Amino acid sequence: DHKATIIDGKAVAQTIRSEIADEVRQLSQKYGKVPGLAVVIVGNRKDSQSYVGMKRKACAEVGIKSIDVDLPEDVPESELISKVHELNANPDVHGILVQLPLPKHINEEKVLTEISLEKDVDGFHPLNIGKLAMKGREPLFQPCTPKGCLELLSRSGISIKGKNAVVVGRSNIVGLPVSLLLLKADATVSIVHSRTPDPERLVREADIIIAAAGQPMMIKGSWIKPGAAVIDVGTNAVDDPSKKSGYRLVGDVDFQEACKVAGYITPVPGGVGPMTVAMLLRNTLDGAKRVIEQ
Ligand code: NDP
Repeated sequence: DHKATIIDGKAVAQTIRSEIADEVRQLSQKYGKVPGLAVVIVGNRKDSQSYVGMKRKACAEVGIKSIDVDLPEDVPESELISKVHELNANPDVHGILVQLPLPKHINEEKVLTEISLEKDVDGFHPLNIGKLAMKGREPLFQPCTPKGCLELLSRSGISIKGKNAVVVGRSNIVGLPVSLLLLKADATVSIVHSRTPDPERLVREADIIIAAAGQPMMIKGSWIKPGAAVIDVGTNAVDDPSKKSGYRLVGDVDFQEACKVAGYITPVPGGVGPMTVAMLLRNTLDGAKRVIEQ
């Protein structure tokens, strides 16, 4: 019976975090400076609070200084933008992350555009995304979840060049940028979205599948080309009365079925999730090095 190799994102992320901790230590020994990441949260959405908590804790663990900015739900847009300007000007801050989504009265695009390009560790500034899309140009930062997907492929020894890749989803934070990264890495990329008539037909052709639709177990085992590498970004809570919490997390791929066909697969949880935070730390360190090492 065939069994896919499970890509252990938690373990890979741990390796990366210890690499980062080493580099932070060296930087601090050599220059007496540590990287700083400003993590800005507006309001008290439970999920956002938990992501922000994870990011701040991860910083502390690798020796990155986290600068915490907590603003109330009803903060005026102008005040948030002033805060961003203040962080842009603060030399101890090398990265600025504004946790999304923002409350309805705040224009997300306007705020993200105000973040200094050199500190845009989420990689969501339109200029960084634009450079990601252009041939021969490099953004200062690549978005964290997409970068984490490619890192999982490369650290698992899976080559991208010349492969057929399919990305399911086209959001600004995952689907679109991961498609652009795959294209930069010389894959032939198809993008499937909610208006794609026959997603199965395109998924079947793919050597590399990146699932980021937010649709629990949408991708069936029978859709997967034998030996394909499957990176499941989807993180969906489904009811599960047998759990104390009343729910469990599942991906966009039917994991049990996919294991019988795929060559490689990431689990949910424990696949892409931990990589996102590791890539945020990586981006912050890289941003700090650019400044500190001049
Ligand atoms: P969005 O809801 O912003 O985007 C979903 C995308 O999937 C859209 O482009 C949508 O198409 C497409 N889509 C939805 N339904 C279908 C369908 N039935 N068939 C084909 N395409 C479909 O989600 P995000 O990109 O923010 O997140 C995607 C998933 O990844 C979620 O489960 C989220 O929780 C998870 N996630 C995990 C992260 C991590 O592990 N670190 C980080 C970020 C997200 P259309 O554009 O036409 O509407």
